[in-house]
Amino acid sequence: MTTGYPLTLDVAGRRVLVVGAGPVGARRALALVAAGARVDVVAPTADPAVREAAAAGLLTWHQRPYDAADLTTPARAWLVHTATGRAADAVVAAACETEAVWCTRADDASASTAWTPAVARGTAGTPADGLVVAVSGDRVGGADPRRSAAVRDAVLAGLQSGTLPVRRVRRPAVDPGEPARVGRVALVGGGPGDPGLLTVRGRALLAAADVVVTDRLGPRAVLDALGPDVEVVDVGKQPQRHPIPQDRINALLVEHALAGKDVVRLKGGDPFVLGRGGEEALFCAEHGVPVEVVPGVTSAVSVPAAAGIPVTHRGITASFVVASAHEGANEALTALRDAPVTSTLVLLMGVSALRETAESLMAAGRPASTPVALVESGWTADQRTTVTTLEKAAVVAEEEGVRAPAVVVVGDVVALRGQLGDLHRPTP
Ligand code: SAH
Repeated sequence: MTTGYPLTLDVAGRRVLVVGAGPVGARRALALVAAGARVDVVAPTADPAVREAAAAGLLTWHQRPYDAADLTTPARAWLVHTATGRAADAVVAAACETEAVWCTRADDASASTAWTPAVARGTAGTPADGLVVAVSGDRVGGADPRRSAAVRDAVLAGLQSGTLPVRRVRRPAVDPGEPARVGRVALVGGGPGDPGLLTVRGRALLAAADVVVTDRLGPRAVLDALGPDVEVVDVGKQPQRHPIPQDRINALLVEHALAGKDVVRLKGGDPFVLGRGGEEALFCAEHGVPVEVVPGVTSAVSVPAAAGIPVTHRGITASFVVASAHEGANEALTALRDAPVTSTLVLLMGVSALRETAESLMAAGRPASTPVALVESGWTADQRTTVTTLEKAAVVAEEEGVRAPAVVVVGDVVALRGQLGDLHRPTP
């Protein structure tokens, strides 16, 4: 006995005979109908699904036992499924052998000339769109449908989670005269740096991307897993330096998409939190490029968490304010104007203007003794936390050599770190 030869059949418009209409025969008959086959079911009794399909005109049900003529009349069958669970299966199989028609036997795969795999199709609109997974047992090893189905499900989960390389290498041809395919842009929030904090959707889109436009922040490790033919464009900003202006980044996204490429714009944290993701989305929309956003785990919340600082805590504060300190303290002060004095203040891009920011906050009435945490490189191996007060923050930051990227947390919640310590468990 040989291992067999896997193959996919185009049954559309072709006659297929199904003998027996219990649960197995019904399942097969309906799958064949879905594939466009002209299905004749021969069985004295039939599952409700087959009766309904017959009533709807999707297949023909001949309510009687199998007859030798069924194989060739009204037209010769291209394929036969027999699932009577009785001696008839052997009779049908023998007739198929004589007539040279492929035959699957539900009762005995090893006596069949054909057998069906466990099948799953990539969901339309997901990166696995257009893929069919078919798993079958090796006939020599023995059919084991549940084992095949389990493997199929695992592969499908891998396709959908982006842990398998689903990128299209060849696109369906566009008919001449039709407009060329426009690619898509996905603004993917990469989280604070640990690949484990990237969403499932983000990962799946990365696995299907033709081009990845990436920042300095975010989970750079996932880039190593991309195939060699994926174009990675690093537009990472260094502090005080903007190597690639935002206009150019916007243009880059649109150019690639208009060239038919699927683009992932991988951004640190969440794309719409102080990340200029909104501008990129608008630019794509203005240029007719389909764009989607995949939210990410923002550093504003996750980096304090990694250092054992909940941004809210019962009995301490029920609110927090996130602000950019890039241009000094103005944003933060405005944001805090109507906030309770207990509100936690989370500053992003807060290292270079820390002195001015701290002074302004004290001038605005925050006590000099308010606890401050400076959390550098959260969720990476270099994570470091320095705890101080508003009054001493600038001096301490300088002494300790605190550097961007860092999240500055101002408020009494910082004290919880004393009990909790670091809470991050980076993905190995
Ligand atoms: N969109 C991002 C923020 C971009 S602004 C988000 O949602 O997280 C860049 C700032 O984010 C940095 O200056 C720093 O303040 C903060 N940041 C981002 N990732 C960080 C990390 N891993 N550790 C510490 N700070 C980080």
